[in-house]
Amino acid sequence: MKLSALLAQHEITVSCELFPPKSGAALEHVDDVLRDTAALAPDFISVTYGAGGSTSKRTLELASRLQDVYHVPALAHLTCVSSTREEIAAMVGRLRQAGIENILALRGDIPQDAQFPRPDCFHYANELVSFLRSLEGGADLCIGGACYPEGHVECPHFYTDLDNLKRKVDTGVDFLTTQMFFDNDVLYRFLFRALDHGITVPIVAGIMPVISVRQIQRSCELSGTVMPPRLQGIADRFGDDPAAMRQAGIAYATEQILDLIAHGVTHIHIYTMNKPDVAAKIMDNLSSILRPHGQD
Ligand code: FAD
Repeated sequence: MKLSALLAQHEITVSCELFPPKSGAALEHVDDVLRDTAALAPDFISVTYGAGGSTSKRTLELASRLQDVYHVPALAHLTCVSSTREEIAAMVGRLRQAGIENILALRGDIPQDAQFPRPDCFHYANELVSFLRSLEGGADLCIGGACYPEGHVECPHFYTDLDNLKRKVDTGVDFLTTQMFFDNDVLYRFLFRALDHGITVPIVAGIMPVISVRQIQRSCELSGTVMPPRLQGIADRFGDDPAAMRQAGIAYATEQILDLIAHGVTHIHIYTMNKPDVAAKIMDNLSSILRPHGQD
């Protein structure tokens, strides 16, 4: 199923995200994570892609299993920063062969341990989108892109980032998913500005439940996402108590989603981070709101 068709409707959608673990115990339990996330009956599940290529084959594997075994539409992430055109074309061929027609086209974070940008790789996601569209059957793909309500961390000016986003969308992006944000007003401002910039594709709001303060602080540092004082206060108070922080993080994400839906945002993406139990709690808190007619 193409996500563009799903997201064009004005029904509420909820999606989740998984990442392929690199190794160890997490890898052994990945099928449990797939099963438990699929059991939440999200509208689709996205599977991240290791920009360095380390877990890239596993993205294909997990996305295929989601569709073939659990019958949930998969959105396969694909990055270009360290893959050649030939490698990208081969990966897209494998994805299509596995029946995956939804791709989130990303540049990827630039690895710090190598020479970047690489001359044989694309430098920006808009080049990847254009390449995907140029491949045989590329017009039939459903292609998503990333967007940044607070501006991308590398871009010195918010409106330059918006210009770059508009170029990316015009190259052939069907929908956008946002970076995490913790202040809904940031998203509302971004949605108005994007619309004003002529960006009219559906925008899926990415919600990150804050379960581990250390992890989130690191992510915020890397992505430039701001922790508003209310969330910072919660983190300061409960950050050292895992059970309390989990509960507080679930409550905060629940409230964020409730407010988004009350303001007319219809597409919610929960950064599940391989913790289906956390997504389950949030979805349960909002069950009558997310599934107003009781459908699963
Ligand atoms: P781009 O759209 O290329 O933008 C990157 C920067 O370049 C921005 O500052 C932009 O303003 C600027 N720019 C864009 N085009 C041009 C241009 N033509 N000329 C000059 N400047 C330009 N990373 C992974 O490695 N794997 C994943 O699975 C993954 N999933 C993600 C999912 C979501 C929803 C999000 C929001 C991010 C994800 N990331 C992932 C992280 C992402 O790869 C990084 O944020 C990366 O730094 C930017 O990727 P992008 O596709 O947004 O890049």
